[in-house]
Amino acid sequence: MTRRKKIYEGKAKILYEGPEPGTLIQYFKDDATAFNAQKKAVLEGKGVINNRISEFIMTRLNAMGIANHFIRRLNLREQLIKEVEIIPLEVVVRNVAAGSMSTRLGIPEGQVLPRSIIEFYYKDDKLGDPMVTEEHITAFNWATTQDIDDILAMALRVNDYLSGMFGAVGITLVDFKLEFGRIWENDDFARIILADEISPDSCRLWDAQTNEKLDKDRFRRDLGNVIESYTEVARRLGIMKEMPTVIQGGQTGDKAEKAAEPDGEAASNVSKLH
Ligand code: C5P
Repeated sequence: MTRRKKIYEGKAKILYEGPEPGTLIQYFKDDATAFNAQKKAVLEGKGVINNRISEFIMTRLNAMGIANHFIRRLNLREQLIKEVEIIPLEVVVRNVAAGSMSTRLGIPEGQVLPRSIIEFYYKDDKLGDPMVTEEHITAFNWATTQDIDDILAMALRVNDYLSGMFGAVGITLVDFKLEFGRIWENDDFARIILADEISPDSCRLWDAQTNEKLDKDRFRRDLGNVIESYTEVARRLGIMKEMPTVIQGGQTGDKAEKAAEPDGEAASNVSKLH
């Protein structure tokens, strides 16, 4: 990866300089981290699957008029995106109690919430992404009241669309995290658009029949079959028609060797691609 300038490296993704001003290349790694990077692993094939799932979702959101940074997928692990000035917030939308909300408020996991709840966390690894309120956000100039209104409206639209999309393939959208960024249209007017990724790394996705977890909690909670679950999400969305079963550790089955993506890309044996 010496061919271009690295702009930023995060836990699961790398951003490189893009081919034109105002663009970046977002590279999806196989690295998985949890609990503020205290738990780490390499899950072979994860980056390939998340690249495809995020492409699928962002493309649909764009078509729905929910502006986002995605331009096009470049290859198995990379997508071309618009460069944005990231707003330092993680915006979590919850439909069903789980994770930190259940821990913090003592609400049993799986309890359907009376309405969708949106929470803000300040993006700062050193502080462990603490929860903040609109008061903190405006007082510290992370975003204006108008920005927050725009973010809330977009987050609810994303929730409505994704709840329906996943519901149609037998998956409950329990909760998810979004990030937003500013695009400057001129010196004093910025538009807020959706950024980052939407994938099983950033969503809780449960099988609607069995409540089996199909997301990053499989890694966080040592439930096993992480890649198989991500693959199942992609398969149900119809993304990778013959997505190979990637076995952790890098082996794939015979079927995987023969499988090819609909667009002819050599998707077989994703575990060998780096
Ligand atoms: O841990 P918590 O219950 O607050 O997570 C809520 C949602 O936000 C989950 O879907 C989780 O995957 C996502 N999340 C994330 N990145 C973080 C924290 C949470 O994608 N840093």
